[in-house]
Amino acid sequence: VPRVRFAPSPTGYLHIGGARTALFNYLYAKRHGGVFILRIEDTDQERSTPESVKAILDGLTWLGIDWEEGPGKEGPVAPYFQTQRLDLYKKYADQLIAEGKAYRCYCTREEIDARRAAVEKATGKPGTYKYEGTCRDRNYIPEGRTAVIRFRMPDGEGQVTFNDKVLGPITKQYSDLDDWVMMRADGIPLYNYGCVIDDRTMDITLVGRGQEHVNSTFPQLMLYQAFGWKPPEFAHFPLILGPDREKLSKRKHPEADVMLHKRNGVLPEALSNYVIRLGWSHGNDEVISREQMVEWFDFDHVGTTSGVWSPDKLMWLNQQWLKLMPPAVVAEQLVDFLAARDVQVKAGDPRLERVVMAFRERAKSLQEMADMALKYFQHGVTLDEKAAAKHLTAESKPLLTQVREQVATLPQWSAAALDEVVKKVSEAAGVGMGKVAQPVRVAATGGTVSPGIGETLELLGREETLHRLDAALA
Ligand code: GLU
Repeated sequence: VPRVRFAPSPTGYLHIGGARTALFNYLYAKRHGGVFILRIEDTDQERSTPESVKAILDGLTWLGIDWEEGPGKEGPVAPYFQTQRLDLYKKYADQLIAEGKAYRCYCTREEIDARRAAVEKATGKPGTYKYEGTCRDRNYIPEGRTAVIRFRMPDGEGQVTFNDKVLGPITKQYSDLDDWVMMRADGIPLYNYGCVIDDRTMDITLVGRGQEHVNSTFPQLMLYQAFGWKPPEFAHFPLILGPDREKLSKRKHPEADVMLHKRNGVLPEALSNYVIRLGWSHGNDEVISREQMVEWFDFDHVGTTSGVWSPDKLMWLNQQWLKLMPPAVVAEQLVDFLAARDVQVKAGDPRLERVVMAFRERAKSLQEMADMALKYFQHGVTLDEKAAAKHLTAESKPLLTQVREQVATLPQWSAAALDEVVKKVSEAAGVGMGKVAQPVRVAATGGTVSPGIGETLELLGREETLHRLDAALA
């Protein structure tokens, strides 16, 4: 059974890159009848917070990415928080030390920093320092010092290769790697080490993650080799760039926050559709349902070039989804947006669905829809002065009065019946329908733009319609 994981570090909200990684893994699992696991890599104790764990879980849940194993879903390889797995990291580190494949290093940070500075100064190349192996064969323990555990690179020449499912074969020479730190003195694993122990002990068969981790794959593979373990497959996904073509980052791009889009009135269906298309394609298909994603997703069509964030494209997709989703589902999500505008409507109120039907052709987000819908839920309306001067005239008011009288007793309050009233009144007066509909519209909505007149009045309801017509006639 394929087993994949999403392994976020809980140091902030769920960001777009993480959401896409999660989604790709999730889709792969679904498509191949596998298991999607959520593992929390909370070893950076200064930056990891419970709030962030919650934010990540909430973000995934909102996007409809459920995990079969992970926080709240204890499975066979629990626990799913790295800080609860420290005994495991210790056990395997002890094993490697006993086999001479890892060793304790007592060099202090200051010593290493000084050596790094010296090397960089001599070569003029920053970032190229490699640990010299000073503690490889140390046979005494310097007093008062604690030790980190380092991986011992095999002696001699060699290379490490893997066949990335997205990028193809990639190779690195041993000489480009060094004796990297696996574990800190306090028993906290560093990323590469904790990751391998967990991927192995959680029976992960494929590791899918962002391209920024390609280089981590080499030290990780060295570890699989040292233990004699078969490594999982790897797939590295292209970067996502902001609209300014800089790497999408929390610091520079507010849109990196998944939940910002929720607050902006984007549907989760639209955001996941948008996010998956940043790096994967299926022909020219743009609007893709979750079922289609599961059916179609593969690594062959994950690109190698970075996707660029486009707010317009997201909003376009959102509108498609506002139109595609069952109105009842959209209506339910509209409630909070109206509440934020001081309009309290209970979920299930039939007016909500009518609003969705009336505005989904024009609104690009739930925010816009709520703005457009606002005045249909308020009591009374402020007339636009220009519109009133033009349409509420001595000639139109008698027509308005007739409409008022007929709708007051209309047996059925429906858009069709209301349209019919307007039609009859205009026919009787021998004028075009607009001559009646427009004054009614201005009276009912305050302005000259609204859905069809019958639909508009249906939305308002009888009581409010009469109230507004009376106010305009007064
Ligand atoms: N905790 C790492 C991250 O958030 C996980 C990388 C991986 O998937 O191996 O970037």
